[in-house]
Amino acid sequence: MPYLHEWSPALRQTLPQVELGTGPTPVRPLPGLADDTEIWLKDESGFGDGGWGGNKVRKLEWLLPDVKKKGRKTMLTFGGLGTNWGLATALYGRDEGLGTALALVDQPVDRHVEAQLKRLEGSGATLHYTHTKARTIAAAPWLILRHSSGFRPPYILPAGGSSPLGTLGYVETAFEIAAQIEAGELPLPGHVVVPAGSGGTASGLALGFALAGVQTRVTGVIVTDQLRLDRRAMARLASRSAALLRERGARFPDPALDFEMTADWMGPAYGAATAESELAIERSRPVGLELDPVYTAKAMAALLDKAGTGQFGNGPVLFINTNGPR
Ligand SMILES: *Cc1c(COP(=O)(O)O)cnc(C)c1O
Repeated sequence: MPYLHEWSPALRQTLPQVELGTGPTPVRPLPGLADDTEIWLKDESGFGDGGWGGNKVRKLEWLLPDVKKKGRKTMLTFGGLGTNWGLATALYGRDEGLGTALALVDQPVDRHVEAQLKRLEGSGATLHYTHTKARTIAAAPWLILRHSSGFRPPYILPAGGSSPLGTLGYVETAFEIAAQIEAGELPLPGHVVVPAGSGGTASGLALGFALAGVQTRVTGVIVTDQLRLDRRAMARLASRSAALLRERGARFPDPALDFEMTADWMGPAYGAATAESELAIERSRPVGLELDPVYTAKAMAALLDKAGTGQFGNGPVLFINTNGPR
């Protein structure tokens, strides 16, 4: 459903969206997960019809039309060895006739990452194993040249798709949540908890709730130290997305963002399990929620710890399952 286009009809012509998934994604309560706090789930895992789902598909709905509009044939982007972003880009890009080149940096390899690498190898993307962030930056000029067609360079997408444009995917989702609250499918949550890997999900939601007039506080649970994801960086990303909306014709007063970022549940590194994340996986299974170790387990760990220490009061708290199927 084109919520942003409904909110500001001027955007219909200026900001194209391609429908890659079917919304609204389902919401349901998660009874018994925390003792005294009411917890709800919005399940994004089924979003996407191209063989892989989750939050990255939301961003691609806005990014892919821009790649095509600019006449580019190939996208160049970045991620860890188990990158969900890289896989979604390759699969949905391929459906749109676009090629993908991925520069991959190392991350702890477990069964989950191994399985993901197999999917990446079968995705049609060209994979470059650049190992570290520094070596990826050093290789960038060569990668750009290698993936240019004629005089057209590849379309460069940041890790996780969290450009101001990609971030609109979660501005759109905030409007979708607002409609679910409005329809009585979901109580107004006092807090919304999401993992933050490149930040587009958390900052897009914070911007979207402000624009939609939903009073709730977003908690972004940082899972990596490879990117700047503090509150200042995230406020800047949201303000660049807001500027993009205005540039394309939307009119609105300056949004008051309500969000926090925390790195307290990251543990030693991106992709490294913690005692809290393993407990979160165990506790979520009986309520029918399968968490991934890299992102959603750490976000749920934060939610459970905060709920356990009374930081959310009675709730309701909304947890967003950003993960795709596996
Ligand atoms: C990429 C990813 C995230 C993080 O989203 P960002 O918008 O990059 O912060 C969260 N969960 C899953 C499953 C992801 O793949």
